[in-house]
Amino acid sequence: MSTAHVVRRVAVFGGTHGNEMSGVYLVKRWLQNQEAITRSSFLTVPCIANPHAVERCRRYIDVDLNRQFTQEHFSMDFPPSTAPYEVHRAVELNKKFGAKGEAFDVIIDLHNTTSNMGNCLIIGSSMDSFTLQMVKYLVQRSGLVCPVFLTENTVPQLEMADSKRLGVHGISLELGAQPQGVLLADIYLRHERLVHTCLDFIHKFNQGEVFPPETLEVYRILHVVDYPRNNDNDLSAMVHPELQDKDWHPLKPGDPMFLTLDGETIKYEGDSTVYPAFINEAAYYEKGIAFWATQKETLNVTELQVKTN
Ligand SMILES: [Zn+2]
Repeated sequence: MSTAHVVRRVAVFGGTHGNEMSGVYLVKRWLQNQEAITRSSFLTVPCIANPHAVERCRRYIDVDLNRQFTQEHFSMDFPPSTAPYEVHRAVELNKKFGAKGEAFDVIIDLHNTTSNMGNCLIIGSSMDSFTLQMVKYLVQRSGLVCPVFLTENTVPQLEMADSKRLGVHGISLELGAQPQGVLLADIYLRHERLVHTCLDFIHKFNQGEVFPPETLEVYRILHVVDYPRNNDNDLSAMVHPELQDKDWHPLKPGDPMFLTLDGETIKYEGDSTVYPAFINEAAYYEKGIAFWATQKETLNVTELQVKTN
């Protein structure tokens, strides 16, 4: 049996990336009508995480905000004036929601991807029973198919430093496929439903409901795969048509992976089956990522109840 502290404060972030529109517009709406996301046992605060990027409908102004939630930035009170806008923003968000501020219990961060990831739930730890039980609740009770992406990894280059780190517990709801700067109604409605299901779970937890032991299927990140490139570091191939949109499907040794600009197929030559995610995500060309290779795992989730003293 695990216990966790009662949840007092929950933040819902939209616009951590300014051109991911369903989170932006849900949060804009909730800022006008906070009642819609209120539950009686805790406070819910909506927040546009990167307002300048949202105004310009861009992913970010200077650097990716969702990689700035580092210990180095958390330790700052005032970043140098020459620091990128998003570093200033990460420090401000930490002063409001993080350990330097009111220390929010849960951060729910809304994202969209151009990849065909469905209703993806992203978590950073396999050890946090509260978040794992919340994810299991979403899988069982939202009425939506939700692949779970676990970004826990020991490879330093894959360190996320994302907004989930601001809170004691955190989850990203990464819905796609949706083009950047485009609002799709069905994705907006699914995003909304997932947020409400999270809030329902938290309210039940606060009221003392016991969540039984469970197992949870997750896709754990293994490594990233870049596009084939020429000597100028420019693309020499694209995602193969047979791999495009096949997020979460097995990619087996010998399966087509890329198609060169000359029309030649490049096969996957690893020694084991992987499950690709974020295939051909528009924002990842600059990061050198064609997709993330993941492996399927089953986690044991311990029984959970609110700590009573
Ligand atoms: Zn995003």
